[in-house]
Amino acid sequence: MGLLDIVPAGVLTGDNVRKLFDYAKQNKFAIPAINVTSSSTANAVLEAARDIKSPIIIQVSQGGSAYFAGKGLANDKQQASIAGAVAAAHHVRTVAKAYGVPVVLHSDHCAHKLLPWFDGMLEADEAYFKEHQEPLFSSHMLDLSEESKEENIATCVKYFKRMVPIGLWLEMEIGITGGEEDGVDNTGVDNASLYTQPEDIYDVYKALSEVGPNFSIAAAFGNVHGVYKPGNVKLQPELLGKHQAFTSAKVGAEKPLYLVFHGGSGSTKDEIKTAVSYGVVKMNVDTDTQFAYLAGIRDFVINKKDYLHAQVGNPEGADKPNKKFYDPRVWVREGEKTLSVRVKEACADLGNVDRL
Ligand SMILES: [Zn+2]
Repeated sequence: MGLLDIVPAGVLTGDNVRKLFDYAKQNKFAIPAINVTSSSTANAVLEAARDIKSPIIIQVSQGGSAYFAGKGLANDKQQASIAGAVAAAHHVRTVAKAYGVPVVLHSDHCAHKLLPWFDGMLEADEAYFKEHQEPLFSSHMLDLSEESKEENIATCVKYFKRMVPIGLWLEMEIGITGGEEDGVDNTGVDNASLYTQPEDIYDVYKALSEVGPNFSIAAAFGNVHGVYKPGNVKLQPELLGKHQAFTSAKVGAEKPLYLVFHGGSGSTKDEIKTAVSYGVVKMNVDTDTQFAYLAGIRDFVINKKDYLHAQVGNPEGADKPNKKFYDPRVWVREGEKTLSVRVKEACADLGNVDRL
């Protein structure tokens, strides 16, 4: 049975998100979650998924959302991040069905100080639910890993109670992903908190599963955002197996946890494979796809530089027009192509190929 016998094409919500992740878990693959910042990057991601016949996760960060709305907008009350996230969601919803693949539409890390952003997206979900009986997004991440475990769990439970009735998935983080991403700098945190303990994961599972089944956990196992890795932090994907085993023994179900892999840039294919075998269903990819988007545009500009100095006049003649070189549909498209290739590579690394 293929995935499209289980869930529809387009943006998934409610139990369909869990059905997708169950399918991934059963078939031992994971789905990359690609950060997008524009309709151009979102389309390139959808195009990649369409080409390899696989589901995909599209996500926006708080900063990426603000960019989507426009860097010229004020964001002191998260108004640009809210507007941009909503705009990105509507864009993806509008075109996703045309690409014919199931899509999980997600918002990335939301730390305590960014909760007004989360509240704004949730209000948009609730308004959308009133009209369409489903939320605008598929899922949201709350990242309160800098708070105490008790406060982290209590805040997640509070929000999850509001999310469950409208069919939203919750991703939470416990333990800290090292490195620096989107203005949150964790390069200085002590090593112990870069590895989550199995007991902590079970505490999260217990508290959230009393509210609903549709949640996932980003557990720190030595992962670091970005490509810089401090030498004394080592990725330990085996820790994820211990989390599954510990919670499994408590609740009597096989692989009860839906795990998320953050900060995977630079991981070896073996480390990724091990993580997936322990129930990782989603792996975030941002740094590498940012670089891939640049590559096509950079190469185009370098190779065609003599056609880009003026609107008219190039090596073929002083009267030759350059419109077919400076039209954004030409040079931005080159970035979309190289981004799409990198997304396909991320899918291949996770076994997310030909899954429909
Ligand atoms: Zn992350």
